[in-house]
Amino acid sequence: MSLPDDRFVPPLANPPLEPVPMDGCDVCRALVRDREQAHKTGRLDVVRSCNAELQNHPHPYWEVR
Ligand SMILES: [Zn+2]
Repeated sequence: MSLPDDRFVPPLANPPLEPVPMDGCDVCRALVRDREQAHKTGRLDVVRSCNAELQNHPHPYWEVR
């Protein structure tokens, strides 16, 4: 027995839970831009590394509003 093809759906183009950029941070802005481009081109490895960097790079307290 085989499943019909319409049981399969493509991966989410925009996974709902991704790190959000901090306002006013150039690093975040660049990473989000790269991540959007990576989503469009299907580079999920790049998406993952952008998300990891977004989560891990530090923000000095004077940048946090
Ligand atoms: Zn940042």
